[in-house]
Amino acid sequence: MMNADIIDGKAIAGRVRAGVARHVARLGADHGLTPGLAVVLVGEDPASQVYVRSKGRQTVEAGMRSFEHRLAASIPEEDLLELVKGLNADPAVHGILVQLPLPDHIDEALVINAVDPSKDVDGFHVWNVGKLGTGQKAMVPCTPLGCMMLLRDRHGSLSGMNAVVIGRSNIVGKPMAQLLLRDSCTVTVAHSRTGNIREVARQGDIVVAAVGRAGTVGGDWIKPGATVIDVGINRIAAPELGEGRTRLVGDVDFDGCSTVAGAITPVPGGVGPMTIACLLANTLTACCRANGLEEPEGLTV
Ligand code: NAP
Repeated sequence: MMNADIIDGKAIAGRVRAGVARHVARLGADHGLTPGLAVVLVGEDPASQVYVRSKGRQTVEAGMRSFEHRLAASIPEEDLLELVKGLNADPAVHGILVQLPLPDHIDEALVINAVDPSKDVDGFHVWNVGKLGTGQKAMVPCTPLGCMMLLRDRHGSLSGMNAVVIGRSNIVGKPMAQLLLRDSCTVTVAHSRTGNIREVARQGDIVVAAVGRAGTVGGDWIKPGATVIDVGINRIAAPELGEGRTRLVGDVDFDGCSTVAGAITPVPGGVGPMTIACLLANTLTACCRANGLEEPEGLTV
């Protein structure tokens, strides 16, 4: 039996992308501007290659310029930093994304913090992290921003709701908690050392799962009627589809939770499509800010 409404991230992401494309067309017509996104990929991680291809295609579809830099895994750190410096100085580039993870010989934090904060469309630079945490205008990490758009679409105001974020990574859990706090939720951040995590999660009117383990959040973790946002992307074996086949699942036990929750995001088709839509939105926002132009409504916090 399934009760929960399915939150259609694919459809909502499509609306965000269409809004971005309309605004990009207006920027071109009124100001002769084309937002540009540079994506830097180091090495040949297959998942990263898929993401980068998809980012490039959707950037162009939104009417923006896409610059791809594919570098050998063996590139010295100083050469990568030199490339970032060049992109910082390039007026055609409004957003810079260095695809993570980077090879072990490269200091990830050093590279992230070498990106001009105003072009940091991933929102990972300490300057943006600090601004987000102090309620100032920042570039906001794409995945948590996408989750907020889904939650606002569902609930309107989130003020006064109990939100439980499971996971405390710098790229999802922590910025997610900041954004929920900014929308006046009462926020709990749970992680691998949290005691009695089921009980903790069951306090949530909103539960955001960013754990990185398939099916961690069971139906007995969820308060009846709660909204469940599943950030996880895990590839698991799927012998039912044929020998050697795999499929994508989230961090939430979808079947178990959808009988209890009021609303839930599917995997795929939930948070995933929102991430790239928000990357495009951030690139547009960065371009508007760089040119002293009004930012489009509803595309950032
Ligand atoms: P991460 O850096 O590995 O962080 C995982 C977090 O989950 C950690 O804080 C860890 O706690 C916590 N955790 C691990 N096992 C746990 C357990 N059994 N109970 C409670 N907490 C537990 O992962 P991430 O980068 O945040 O990503 C999380 C998931 O989201 C992954 O599946 C990733 O693929 C996916 N993701 C999706 C998108 C998207 O576009 N949809 C974007 C980014 C990430 P400790 O801190 O105590 O170790």
